[in-house]
Amino acid sequence: METHVVLTVGAILLCGGVLGLLVVRLSNPFLRGLTWLGAAYAVGAAGAGILSLRSKFGGVYTLMFTQVFFLLAFVLLHVCFVELLERRAQLPRLGLGLLVVQVLAFGVFFRQVYVWNLCLICLGVLVTLQALQSAALLWREGRGGLAAPARSSMVLLILFAGYNVFRIIVVLCVGVPLDYRQPSPLETLTAIVFLGTSLGLGFGVFWMTSAEIRVTLEKLANTDPLTKVANRRCFETWCERELERSARTGDKFSLILLDLDHFKLINDRYGHATGDAALCLVASRLQHNLRAIDLLGRWGGEEFVALLPGADQDAAQQVAQRLRTCVELLSMSSLRISRSGLTDELRLTVSVGVTTYRGTNDTLTSLFSRCDRALYAAKASGRNRIVSSSTESRSFTESLRSLS
Ligand code: GH3
Ligand code: MG
Ligand code: MG
Repeated sequence: METHVVLTVGAILLCGGVLGLLVVRLSNPFLRGLTWLGAAYAVGAAGAGILSLRSKFGGVYTLMFTQVFFLLAFVLLHVCFVELLERRAQLPRLGLGLLVVQVLAFGVFFRQVYVWNLCLICLGVLVTLQALQSAALLWREGRGGLAAPARSSMVLLILFAGYNVFRIIVVLCVGVPLDYRQPSPLETLTAIVFLGTSLGLGFGVFWMTSAEIRVTLEKLANTDPLTKVANRRCFETWCERELERSARTGDKFSLILLDLDHFKLINDRYGHATGDAALCLVASRLQHNLRAIDLLGRWGGEEFVALLPGADQDAAQQVAQRLRTCVELLSMSSLRISRSGLTDELRLTVSVGVTTYRGTNDTLTSLFSRCDRALYAAKASGRNRIVSSSTESRSFTESLRSLS
């Protein structure tokens, strides 16, 4: 197959890609990165189109344009990755530097006899550097859903860089025909590799975009918007999993239910915004006092719940004590409220109910109703205290007795 045929087909495919991206981008303005991918395809298509028609334009100037266009396409692809992966550096400093080097190098090579070979080597080196920078960027992407597509694109970029190194070595050792009308298998293969890489990276970008949408939706569906801890739905799902795991392995796990005491007073005295800030502060302190394998969730209003895998009754009691104390140590002044004349500072305290998995008969409902009863007993017996489901019935009776 002749090089110009591959280039013409490539230019047509990339133009089709630009049109497709335009439609997708217009129909969904929230998709990130696609504008830059479209720009990269447009520039790549222009480069391939000009190169395929180079007999009509004259060799040297055509070279200058196409080399810059091809390099620019890869710089734009890099910007597309930067935007997709939410990296801060939007300005492709390395890419712009490479483009300047490309233009300057062309000015030097222009006077050389073997301009074609030198230009090929120059583009090979510069585009390899750009590909490696993009690969390094993708390597650092660690977010769950995005890691797989990012790694695939990274592998493609490394293979592309490897091919460019191979091409440079061949050009250095053998050279390519100076007359473009002579068939050159190396140049045909190069055109195919450039086109394949562009289309493959486009596929990678789409994969990353859809993975990113999935990750964002999952996060929205599972996170409490105010406190950013797990919401009730997510918490229940984790509890179901833990129940299944414990039924299989016989391992213990515990639940801690926490309800802020007299929280209504905080709202009434300081306003809802301060109440919200207090909830966020409490959530972050609770989180801070739990292990990485524990899960903290917002059960509702001013109630939080913690799942402690592997924790038996005693361990859960200790954790509950730690959580109760950490809330007690918080003061409203930690919220940095400046209210002159406010001397009677309200203290935040929390009542806590604790329960531990008792065996295969336990269900989500039985666990939570035990925990809820324990919490109710803690409230009834004076607040700012912990009641465990094993002692709950006794303390509940005692507190009822003391109330009467
Ligand atoms: P108790 O000690 O019996 O638990 O008293 P309490 O005032 O904490 O409980 P109650 O159920 O009477 O009131 C809960 C309060 O929590 C009332 C509600 O306005 C407040 N609350 C619930 N969700 C939010 C929220 O998202 N933001 C704010 N600021 N307040 C909330
Ligand atoms: Mg409550
Ligand atoms: Mg409360």
